[in-house]
Amino acid sequence: MTNRFLKQYLRGHDLSISFGTFGFGTLYGCPVTVFDDGRICIQTGIDNGLFVVQSALALHSGEIDGQAVKEVTADGTAVVIHVGGSLRGEKKVANYVAQVCDAILPGLADQVQPVPCPVCGLPADDDCIARLSGSCVVYLHEGCLEKQTLENYEAAMADSNVFGGIVGAVGGMLLGALVWGFVMNLGIFAAPFALLTAILTVQGYDKLKGRPGALRTVVVVACVVLSVFLGTAGCYAWQLHEIWVESYKDLIAEKVFFTGAIPDLFRDSEFKIMMVKDVGLGLLFAALGSARFIVRARRDIDKVKADR
Ligand SMILES: [Zn+2]
Repeated sequence: MTNRFLKQYLRGHDLSISFGTFGFGTLYGCPVTVFDDGRICIQTGIDNGLFVVQSALALHSGEIDGQAVKEVTADGTAVVIHVGGSLRGEKKVANYVAQVCDAILPGLADQVQPVPCPVCGLPADDDCIARLSGSCVVYLHEGCLEKQTLENYEAAMADSNVFGGIVGAVGGMLLGALVWGFVMNLGIFAAPFALLTAILTVQGYDKLKGRPGALRTVVVVACVVLSVFLGTAGCYAWQLHEIWVESYKDLIAEKVFFTGAIPDLFRDSEFKIMMVKDVGLGLLFAALGSARFIVRARRDIDKVKADR
């Protein structure tokens, strides 16, 4: 969650904050999921939840700024209140969310029904694991979550395309290397941009439905490593090109200059130290960027496979 005002409000009410763009938990006795963009999802657990929430909003309209509520939609028994005015700003969104929640949730608490585990339909308990599903967090039993993870994995496997995934990852990698090389060329500390490359690579792979599992790890790691080398090499090549344009253009051909200059550079210990530093730091940030995606996916799959 990035909206710090919203985070503050939710933390103040003992809700959990996710790594993503939302916070969730029980607010005034109602299970809710609140997003950075101001969506409030209330798990009512009742079929006429939309009507109940709209009535509550009407009843408490005096306590809520007229601009606060844009629309109210239902997603199964979950009801989503879209909050936000014409002026969007973190503080304003947070204030609207707080206004709406403070006004209507206390009165809804005795009307909402506990929502069962969506996989087995049995009541959720304290050991259940929270997962975002659609616009709301749902609570699944550990075994049910594993079953669902396995089903998702198998569906993704059946729907996957080895070639597409590689093309996507390489595309993400080239884009990342380009940004990396460009930033480095400007003389800015480029290493953190390797994080971006890692994210682009993973997203490219997943967008084009690459195969999940071990192949995903191998392709992503290979592409990210390659991207750091490509970006660094590209940046050095560009700088050499500029040196040639400035000082050697009239004296020797560019190809001759490069074939002479490159081995010279590799004999230069200062250059070698700089290169090791550039590449090493890039790889470090790249590892940080891709680790979360890879570790999480592998852990889920390995765990399910081990339990079978
Ligand atoms: Zn279950």
